[in-house]
Amino acid sequence: MEKMKEIPVIELSGSSYEIGFQHGEILRDKIQDFYHTVYDLHRQNLTIIADKNALLSFCRRNIGYLKKYSPSLYDELQGIADGSGLDLDAIVFLNSFLELEDLRPPELGGKLISTKLWGCTSFNVLPSASKNGKSYVGQTFDMEQYYSKYNVILKINQNSGPSLLVYTLAGVLGLNGINSKGIAVAINKLVATDAREGVIYPFIIRNTLNQVRIGDAFGDIVFAPRATGMNYQLASSDGVAWTIEVSAGYYDLLPINGAMSHTNHYISKLMRKYETKNWLSHGGSYVRYQVSNRILKENIGNINLDLLMNLTKDHTNYPRCICAHAFEGQDEYNAFTTISSVIFDLKERVMYACHENPCTNKYIKIEM
Ligand SMILES: [Zn+2]
Repeated sequence: MEKMKEIPVIELSGSSYEIGFQHGEILRDKIQDFYHTVYDLHRQNLTIIADKNALLSFCRRNIGYLKKYSPSLYDELQGIADGSGLDLDAIVFLNSFLELEDLRPPELGGKLISTKLWGCTSFNVLPSASKNGKSYVGQTFDMEQYYSKYNVILKINQNSGPSLLVYTLAGVLGLNGINSKGIAVAINKLVATDAREGVIYPFIIRNTLNQVRIGDAFGDIVFAPRATGMNYQLASSDGVAWTIEVSAGYYDLLPINGAMSHTNHYISKLMRKYETKNWLSHGGSYVRYQVSNRILKENIGNINLDLLMNLTKDHTNYPRCICAHAFEGQDEYNAFTTISSVIFDLKERVMYACHENPCTNKYIKIEM
């Protein structure tokens, strides 16, 4: 029988630069492969990007914001570059992979049109809504299938700051995670019309996880000069939680009412005016939103790990569903699928992570 695939876990420690360097060195081949693959695909999908320099300079314009927002994460980025043998521009480009989605809408010249894309489903569960008084945050991460080759979990022990468990892709600072103070953050993409140069999302994730107080973590999301739109599911083990819809320049908070799920369209009336037209026009996001929130609301007071794992396996509106699959005949570069799924138990400070589709692969428990 074929062995279930698991996301590799690597341990990193030391100063910010040392952590980055180890990341770069250990994952050198994967980072180089990821860089070349993703560049070739963006070149095919983005007609406005004529050459490599244009694409790199689109990402490079964020650098001033990154240095100012977190000098230590900027050092870590330099460490990844030096360890992997690529230059800093290449690593900034990899870390901007979700910001590059903002260039895909057809009206901006993107070729990969809205009918082909779907996306992540995230959730945030308060202690009062769970069976055991625990807080949970989690999400499926949905991208073109080939991204799953670069899945990795970082176990980070920093010289200063909390310890971290971070899910990410080779060469990228972090896509979601939990820290030793019981703060966890997950996301789902929202494509805002006011995207601009600014702080890219992996910086916001890691800066948020460097905080020891939930209020400071909130500030790192809401008051950052962001590059792009996103929904952040943020919570701490003491029962404080927010679902935060942001565009580059604005934000709004959604009521959680015990437990709240989110997909890839703005819910807030205030924020809806920043939604990119015709993005995800096939309605899959609206189905996932309804299904996941129904599962949570019907189980308020009884939500546990099993229920959340089952939520991530849901196939309503297949294949554009929570556990997302390819249409027949699509290859790994065109198929939009679930590349990973994570659930954080904030009280226990653990991550449950599943490689690719939760309907076929198992969740593995990873401790800090
Ligand atoms: Zn599935």
